Amino acid sequence: MSCRSHVQLLRLINQFGPLSRADLIRISGLSKGAVSMVTADLMARGLIENRDTVHGGGRPSVRLGIAADSAFFLGISLADRPVMVLGDLHGTILERHDITLPDRVEDIGPYVRDLMARVAPGGSVPARRMRGIGLAVSGLVDDGAGLCVRSTLTGWENVPLGPLVTRACGVPAYVENDANALTVAQYRFGPMRETASFSLVSLGRGIGCGHMVGGELFRGFRGGAGEIAHATAEPGGLPCQCGKKGCLDTVASLTAIAHLAARAGLPGDLDELERTAARGDLRAVELLHRAGSALGLMIAAMVQIMDPRHVLVTRQGGELAGVYGRAMRQAAEGNFLPQLAPRPEIITCDVTADAWAFGAVSVAADRSLFQEF
Ligand SMILES: [Zn+2]
Repeated sequence: MSCRSHVQLLRLINQFGPLSRADLIRISGLSKGAVSMVTADLMARGLIENRDTVHGGGRPSVRLGIAADSAFFLGISLADRPVMVLGDLHGTILERHDITLPDRVEDIGPYVRDLMARVAPGGSVPARRMRGIGLAVSGLVDDGAGLCVRSTLTGWENVPLGPLVTRACGVPAYVENDANALTVAQYRFGPMRETASFSLVSLGRGIGCGHMVGGELFRGFRGGAGEIAHATAEPGGLPCQCGKKGCLDTVASLTAIAHLAARAGLPGDLDELERTAARGDLRAVELLHRAGSALGLMIAAMVQIMDPRHVLVTRQGGELAGVYGRAMRQAAEGNFLPQLAPRPEIITCDVTADAWAFGAVSVAADRSLFQEF
């Protein structure tokens, strides 16, 4: 019996469950004996539970599901409005709190320990079931070392966030780039649960991107995979905060749209700008079309490079049904390799402000149970 088999069966039950032992033998390729032993051990640890009994042609079989309250995770997003959520193993958010981070990096560990004390122990969760803490930050992350390598938003450089929080809280803490965390959430607990290979593009003040490849997050050599925000969309274009010029972020992000709209005397909010365009303002139409097309072209290039099954485009608190979204879709779909079959689908998705913190919960669940056991 190996940890590998535990991870394999837990993953299968999470993705396709509830499943019977016969299903697990068939899908996993493990022997009947191995499946019996591992499921008995997972059951003894409280991670899986009997869900229902199915009556087929032969003997009735019990189907196994993930036990929601067997493990809990704290997820913290260190975005412009930091949020902490408590999630269970079904991916349900049980509590959420707006938080204010301490100014000094070295105070973050004790601060998170105090946050954890609100929910466990003595709170809603027994301490022994608190399995991990996820921290989602914008910027480059060294996931193995739990290091925030560089984050423009927080101004951090080489901050050992994971070790600081682990030491203070006595629970493993995992650090991940925020777009990667959102990608893990969509795969482990969201609509992409059964899609092992997809790319995610998050449209917000900046543009984020993550790739799931064969059920594993693709991080690249330095954790920089998916940084399409800083791929050049317009050579010699506007200066970007990263130090380069003409990055996609300077053309297609919500910050760029607000900036360009302000220069043209137009409303900077995307939805308001869409309404202005719908009223026939050609400058608004042109600005949105240019921005959406730039993102669409980048998505088309990304599809040629990564070949995902689908591309999920998220926007926090809004639709992408106007000129921007249509231009993005047209530019992407018009530039896919014609021979790609089946055609990758571009799916747009409105996510809540808590999605990033929930991404952090997913990272903690993923690393502590679905990667190694
Ligand atoms: Zn840049």
